[in-house]
Amino acid sequence: MNYLHSYRILIFIKDMNFTNIVNFGCRLNACETDLIKDFAQELGIVDFTIINTCAVTAEAERKLRQTIRKLHSQNPETKIILTGCASELNPDYYIKMEGVVGIISNKTKLSKSEYLKYATSKTVASSSDHPKVRGFLQIQNGCDQKCTYCIVRLTRGNNVSFHEDEILDQAKLLLAKGYKEIVLTGVNISSYGQGFEPRKNLSFVIRYLLKNLPAVTRLRLSSLDPADIDDDLIKVIASEEKLLPHIHESVQSGDDIILKRMMRRHSRNQLIEINEKILYARPDVIFGADIIVGFPTETDEMFSNSKKLLREAKLSLLHIFSFSPRPKTLASLMPQVEKKIILNRAKELKQLSEVILAQKLLEQVGKDVIILAEDNFSAKTNSFLQVRSTNKLAVGQEYLFHCDSIDKKVIIGRSIKEM
Ligand code: SF4
Repeated sequence: MNYLHSYRILIFIKDMNFTNIVNFGCRLNACETDLIKDFAQELGIVDFTIINTCAVTAEAERKLRQTIRKLHSQNPETKIILTGCASELNPDYYIKMEGVVGIISNKTKLSKSEYLKYATSKTVASSSDHPKVRGFLQIQNGCDQKCTYCIVRLTRGNNVSFHEDEILDQAKLLLAKGYKEIVLTGVNISSYGQGFEPRKNLSFVIRYLLKNLPAVTRLRLSSLDPADIDDDLIKVIASEEKLLPHIHESVQSGDDIILKRMMRRHSRNQLIEINEKILYARPDVIFGADIIVGFPTETDEMFSNSKKLLREAKLSLLHIFSFSPRPKTLASLMPQVEKKIILNRAKELKQLSEVILAQKLLEQVGKDVIILAEDNFSAKTNSFLQVRSTNKLAVGQEYLFHCDSIDKKVIIGRSIKEM
């Protein structure tokens, strides 16, 4: 675990009418604290302050002691429950501190039954009031590329990947919270593992997660850089059924000169070839893409190459970005395209992408597909197409769904059976 990266000093959460929760430490502690907060709500624990402690530095422990003293001096009636690394290391010391009434072991802190004895309220909030559908699991942060339009790499710093066991733990937490689908996320997830010795990659972390956590039944990838999609990743996409057939690519342009000026690492032909390979290996994949229109120096002809690429690379779900220069980027120093032209191109591309999406949706009509319900009448297919159901769905439930027709960007149909 990269403590420097993921270390957080303190998060204080106060839920209306519920226990105060204080978090010290790393991202994992923060995730656990979220879960503990859910327990407290479900069990109706009131009048307690739960602190998820951290021992990573002396400073963290100093702040913990300071917080306990402050809570006690502000309200001597405050009852404090400790869990986490600091209280695990020094339970005898902490239990003697004024205000501390209990310590929950680090090993059992994610067990709801540990909190039962503190449940004093008869009002029990059910977690089903807040159904959980899609949880985001960060596997890395930052980026080492130098795309000329991008400010993210300047604000987020270099690529830092999280250790696979930390990722596994976070996935367990998301499952424990009731999330039905996990989305691997980060600034540039396809760069996962750069800098690790021996070198690891995205394929590795997908395989590791699915192998070590069979309870993950739905795994989705966020945006991929086409330059990082290699044969091994295509093999994973083809062979891991739990990996959902939806690949979103940071394409950005369909013109090779613009791609070079953006300092992207793929060409239009490479993208077409990659997508052909993916479809050959897994025919139900649907591709999404980010496209920037009006990048500096983009001519009508270059823009038309982007339009043509939609069909050639089978890109159905488009995110269109109108270029705007960001400070301190190289692209901001290049000859800019007139704003009006950019807006027109964005509109033109949007219209084309809607036609292409409608064709893709029409291909589904008459078929039975698996969906995950997001609310009582809407859901997404595994390939991330939007559906609307004519019969009522239970949120977070998977169904086999019959596609009857389409309405603009949505498939209309009905659930046939629960999965
Ligand atoms: S656009 Fe993506 S790949 Fe390029 S520098 Fe920004 S974050 Fe990195």
